[in-house]
Amino acid sequence: MTNSLRATVWNEYRHEKRDPAVAKIYPDGIHQAIARHLQSEGLTVQTATLDEPEHGLTQAVLAQTDALIWWGHLAHGEVADEIVERVHQRVLEGMGLIVLHSGHFSKIFKKLMGTACDLKWREMGEKERIWVVEPGHPIAAGLGEYFEIPQAEMYGEHFDIPAPDTLVFISWFQGGEVFRSGCCFHRRRGKIFYFRPGHETYPIYHQPEVLRVISNAVRWAAPVAGPEVKFGHYPTPLEKI
Ligand code: ZN
Repeated sequence: MTNSLRATVWNEYRHEKRDPAVAKIYPDGIHQAIARHLQSEGLTVQTATLDEPEHGLTQAVLAQTDALIWWGHLAHGEVADEIVERVHQRVLEGMGLIVLHSGHFSKIFKKLMGTACDLKWREMGEKERIWVVEPGHPIAAGLGEYFEIPQAEMYGEHFDIPAPDTLVFISWFQGGEVFRSGCCFHRRRGKIFYFRPGHETYPIYHQPEVLRVISNAVRWAAPVAGPEVKFGHYPTPLEKI
């Protein structure tokens, strides 16, 4: 069932090329660490990065994508508006979108949310405990009541997003803050999942629970064969009037 799902992992891929400490954790990029996990789960996976033509997100690539995973941080402003519009259109048509960590400030996430998507942050390598608050949700499959990330960047409330359709995770940080770390949204036929973990200087995308959440999210966000969406003038009533 899941073998036919097609994921595309998009990464800005700048930190890994300029910062040796990041390259040591992700020698061939964050996108490859995530892609390898998804492949190990039997998904069909391609990757795309900012510096490729059309950021690697051609019409053909997006047409073959059931769920797009997005990691960006330094260069949100370099993502062309035309490509953002193209991704946005595909989400409305039903493509899943999984936005990771600092992707909260990406053009595509802000456009889909319609809010500033700002938050508090602090980088001290503190512990994060991620609580599952929707235990029956498919994105929580295989997890315990909570899992911990030994060293993380803190993200704190208030997170300026619309209220999620479903909140799956809440993080607690050693310093005392909390954060809505796993947020589900629907936009027309598309499903969007925001997942907080993933700062580039910690090996977070090597941690099994984090990778498990990402593959669960791909399965949850993939399109379903629902009805065609129709708008506008609808002249023929179903019943005699
Ligand atoms: Zn970060």
